[in-house]
Amino acid sequence: MLSIHSSPLGALGTRDTGGMSVYLRHVSRQLGAAGHQVDIFTCAGAPAPPRDLAANVRLIRIGPGALAEMPKERLPDQVPAIFAALEAFRIENGLDYDLIHSHYWISGLVGEMAQSRWRRPHLVMFHTLGAAKNAPGSGEHESRRRVDEERRLAAGADRVVAPSAGEAAHLTGLYGVAPEKISLVPCGVDLELFQPRGRTAGRLRLGWPVDEETMLFVGRLAPLKGLENLIAALALLRPRHPRLTLRVVGGDDAQGPPALIRRAQTLGVAEAVRFMGRIEQTDLPVYYSAADLLALPSYYESFGLVVLEALACGTPVAATAVGVVPDVIREGRNGVVLTGPAPDAIAQGVAALLAVPGDPQRAAHIRRTVEKYGWPSVAADIETLYRQILSGRN
Ligand code: UDP
Repeated sequence: MLSIHSSPLGALGTRDTGGMSVYLRHVSRQLGAAGHQVDIFTCAGAPAPPRDLAANVRLIRIGPGALAEMPKERLPDQVPAIFAALEAFRIENGLDYDLIHSHYWISGLVGEMAQSRWRRPHLVMFHTLGAAKNAPGSGEHESRRRVDEERRLAAGADRVVAPSAGEAAHLTGLYGVAPEKISLVPCGVDLELFQPRGRTAGRLRLGWPVDEETMLFVGRLAPLKGLENLIAALALLRPRHPRLTLRVVGGDDAQGPPALIRRAQTLGVAEAVRFMGRIEQTDLPVYYSAADLLALPSYYESFGLVVLEALACGTPVAATAVGVVPDVIREGRNGVVLTGPAPDAIAQGVAALLAVPGDPQRAAHIRRTVEKYGWPSVAADIETLYRQILSGRN
């Protein structure tokens, strides 16, 4: 597996580390437990000897230390050197890989070199697509180069893994990928970690007032996630919901980004927006459980792990129709699909969810809607896919 720009051990919720790292940790652990040898190569983090992440799973840091400091935009120019370091490790250790699974387009470029040198199948999972991130209004500006390379990589890979029906549609619609080249395998959720912990118990532990109405946001604070609109929606909702608060988990520092703080001040809701910084994932179940809802008004997600995490904790979700949302959200059961990312659409959906009366069985009902998404079943599907591809080759 190639995870060149971001390490599976990185700090979740910071700029370049999120769902992809969670995915790698879980899928590799499950494949290792099934007896497969998995080596994950990365250039992120300080140079260090290979380390064991789980049984049969190693994390191997390649390339000079300078690569870790380099903005990821410059990594594509380093691809030949990165592949040379990977190849040197492989030869020195007498390894022969059966299959290459690349994560994100920069890894795809390295994987493509391995594919042609080793003559082994190459699967790519982009995790996000440049062309989809550039959606109007998203505030993201992915380079022409990224978009072109993704299109080219998808054409040359043996298989592209899409985690949601929406992402498969983007691959065909934006990049012209043939449907038979796309395999739909969803991401998962750690059902043991993410469990309902009780709204009141969670609030007592976190010091949140019991009579506060709480919208929770969890994620990297990227423009794509629509936080600016969420703050504007909060301002629309406050006259009818004076105790409504937005709690924001994630980001590189606990103060919150100055632009979003200014936005909240201008709209007169600065007191109602609480930036909490990044939180260790093992502590997140209490946050999800304590909240009244998770809000994810993204312009685009390839999947959106936080949606499954909130639902597994029994908390409803208000989210735009991105990633896994249309596949999993059933209105009236576990949340609401927002009609769009604009503030009034968010406000309308959130108001509808806040109006649902409390029910002691609700958390258990909501959790049931994601019970099929455990990581063991995700990894079993990935393993089946690997076997299909390998048997097609041999
Ligand atoms: N996360 C975390 N702590 C934080 C913020 C996020 O552990 O402070 C984790 C969260 O639990 C989730 C992942 O980061 O598993 C974010 O994944 P998602 O697919 O929602 O977003 P992405 O980062 O892929 O855009």
